[in-house]
Amino acid sequence: MSDRELPTPAPDIQPETAAFWAATLDGTLLLQRCSDCGQALYYPRYLCADCHSTNLINFVATGRGAIYSYTITTRGILEYADAGSYVLAMVELDEGPKMITNIVDCDPANLAIGQRVEVVFCDTGGGGALPRFRPADPGL
Ligand SMILES: [Zn+2]
Repeated sequence: MSDRELPTPAPDIQPETAAFWAATLDGTLLLQRCSDCGQALYYPRYLCADCHSTNLINFVATGRGAIYSYTITTRGILEYADAGSYVLAMVELDEGPKMITNIVDCDPANLAIGQRVEVVFCDTGGGGALPRFRPADPGL
């Protein structure tokens, strides 16, 4: 794994994602919950992905989850073209939704499906911080 820092491209903030990105600057992972069917949602949107309701309420997530799938990427594109190798992962949050993200602060050889992870935020300097994950203390 490269010792270089991963790039932090600034998010393209839209009206439906503004609250999410503002919360990341405070170290908070914000999800939405549908008031009609109870589904927890990520990414931020106007309509429930399950029942198409517009009654979505933001709530603070725990920022914890488990690795659902991952790969070690050795050749990135765009901002990641010179990033060296890094871990691209799908994390299943404790609230249910899955996020595509990076696993950082780890030895990729020691990662495993189902491993507990916790969110860390990488400020982009562009109005939001990227939620990435690191291995969680198994004692928590
Ligand atoms: Zn719904």
